Amino acid sequence: MVWQSQSFVGKRRLQTVLRTWNGDVCFVAKELWEPAHSEEAGTSSGLSDLVTAIVSAATANQRLMTAGSAWSFENLIQSDGWVLSLKNLNRRLHYVTDGDAPALSETWRQRQTAAHSKRRLVHVEAGITLGALSQLLQANRNEAWSLPTLGGTNGQTLAGAIATSTHGGECEQAPLSDLVRAIHLVTDGGRQVWIEPRSEAVTDDARLRAVLPYEDTEIIRSDELFNAAVVSMGRFGVIYSVVLEVTQAFNVIEVVTAVATADVLQALADGVSTSEPLAPLLSLLAKLPYPQKPNVQSEAVGGVYSCQLVCASRNTRRCWATRRWVTRENAIPLNTPTDPRAVHVLVARAARGLARVGAALGVPVGPSLCRVLSLGFDRQTQEGRRGPFHLLASGTAGASQHIPYVVDAIEIIFPVRAPQLARFLDVVFTAAEYYEQAGFIAIRPSRASSSTLSMHNVDDSHAYAIEFATLKHMHGSKKWLQFIHQQALLHGGRPHWGLYNKLTPEDVYRLYGEKCHRWHRALWSLTRDSMRFSSDFTRQRGLDPSSLRLIMAARRNSAGEITHLAGGPDAAWSPISVRDAIADIRSGTQSYAIASGADLSFIVETEGTRGSEGELSAVPSHAPADRLLAALPTMP
Ligand SMILES: Cc1cc2nc3c(=O)[nH]c(=O)nc-3n(C[C@H](O)[C@H](O)[C@H](O)COP(=O)(O)OP(=O)(O)OC[C@H]3O[C@@H](n4cnc5c(N)ncnc54)[C@H](O)[C@@H]3O)c2cc1C
Repeated sequence: MVWQSQSFVGKRRLQTVLRTWNGDVCFVAKELWEPAHSEEAGTSSGLSDLVTAIVSAATANQRLMTAGSAWSFENLIQSDGWVLSLKNLNRRLHYVTDGDAPALSETWRQRQTAAHSKRRLVHVEAGITLGALSQLLQANRNEAWSLPTLGGTNGQTLAGAIATSTHGGECEQAPLSDLVRAIHLVTDGGRQVWIEPRSEAVTDDARLRAVLPYEDTEIIRSDELFNAAVVSMGRFGVIYSVVLEVTQAFNVIEVVTAVATADVLQALADGVSTSEPLAPLLSLLAKLPYPQKPNVQSEAVGGVYSCQLVCASRNTRRCWATRRWVTRENAIPLNTPTDPRAVHVLVARAARGLARVGAALGVPVGPSLCRVLSLGFDRQTQEGRRGPFHLLASGTAGASQHIPYVVDAIEIIFPVRAPQLARFLDVVFTAAEYYEQAGFIAIRPSRASSSTLSMHNVDDSHAYAIEFATLKHMHGSKKWLQFIHQQALLHGGRPHWGLYNKLTPEDVYRLYGEKCHRWHRALWSLTRDSMRFSSDFTRQRGLDPSSLRLIMAARRNSAGEITHLAGGPDAAWSPISVRDAIADIRSGTQSYAIASGADLSFIVETEGTRGSEGELSAVPSHAPADRLLAALPTMP
């Protein structure tokens, strides 16, 4: 049974032009649905409007993409059908976590209501921007909370940021998706699902059911489904709300120090063979002089909390290290960020203008622009800053709404101890001078993520993200990004889903391996072969059931061995020999799977008893899955 409002009270616009932040993707949505605000009381028109929109899309047989702030750079929100915007669904919800935390499990309830707890669960609608969320968390001065990690800006929506694994540069924090403890998802047909991990369930079934707006909402506790659904580029459905674990609000001090890039690269390389991979870098930075204010020695509490290394992208010999430390609660603000001043806007506009003029006249302006940028970085070394973490990490909400420049950007993520990282950095830093581009290169560490398809889900404790941003309209900007993308693939680095990302299904499989199978299995278990939330972006990257070959039958030889695999009568592929299927599987060009109800088993190559040809097996390889191959009907 599906719950929906009698009528849709939000806005519904026809033939609406939508554009991503840097203008690379522009399209006309046949219909744009904007559910109305939720009511403060909790049970809400917002959710019912959202369900109505999804049911209507199913009735009209339209694909539906969910848009956040459209800050992703590729065609993630582009739809040949309808688009849904959750911009009005930005309220705090009280029915699960607040008051005496009625829906939480006993353990979490005790934590949630303990007077001096430094952690809290908050339940918010997923269309809220990160900037508005920080403000909301700080609204009560006596009990202020904070996200423990943030990117450099905050205009993204919570769901949009989570969906692509947005992250910051906090040394011991994973990306934002790892702060999520539960999601309320609405998927095809208006089906509502509350998903949380089984290993760390936060709610209790009966209690949760009693407070959810719609009592037939399914409650699923599964690590596999939860970890896949959070970073899923909108493919699992629409995230209506999120339970996040936040931390007590805290202040930080920040200093910026110049350092030779060669020393930084050496420190990163030294980290590869140590048990504390960030230690060589942090020790190098610890030797550098601090500005007089703030006084790091006396004010810092604990080790470095955030770290970012940045250099101008055409002037890479020197870089600037921004470090932050947690400091006292009652710290006096120093140089805290404000909304952009007129002078900054003017400089940014001048740079934009120069980039365009240079491109039009064929005059190289990259080196001059980068010299100006370096001067700007240098000025920051004179005096540090002190203030609330969210402000120093990501600026004011106003600043993110009015960013005066437009860039092309790519970010590549490597395990912190990847041996190829040093080589990658060497190649791109050397090549930077040869491209007519101007912007910055930034390196940020984070903890590894447990979200299945997070770029940060690496086999290491931490990951480095290396971002390359260059002013849009520069003659060489796109070529520069193409070059970095190509080098990333050569060296095993993963491009951020939310920035420049041209991965093919083979690339995705090479970079994520078996994690792709886990993600697909989770998607299949929830929505089978539904195409409602399928986008060009997910299809082009093989993140769609339609990109799998589902095996329905097999041809066997006289000894009963499978020689060919085949799809059903409606399959868009012809029977294929086991040898060719193995070649596809090896190269990652094509995945083969067998569906059995809600279960999806991938066909993998196992050590062959027939020499190098290998054999096929189904995973998960517990007996029933393996038996699926044997049970395939024989085709003529
Ligand atoms: C100026 C700028 C600065 C940036 N800084 C950083 C940074 O510091 N660190 C970093 O990691 N990244 C950064 N990014 C990248 C950015 O965080 C990601 O692209 C992010 O996904 C954008 O969020 P959004 O709200 O704009 O989502 P959109 O771009 O609108 O959508 C992104 C994806 O989320 C899905 N989605 C949106 N809402 C929902 C929902 N309710 N339910 C299900 N799926 C949904 C969409 O379908 C889409 O697949 C930056 C981008 C820009 C433009």
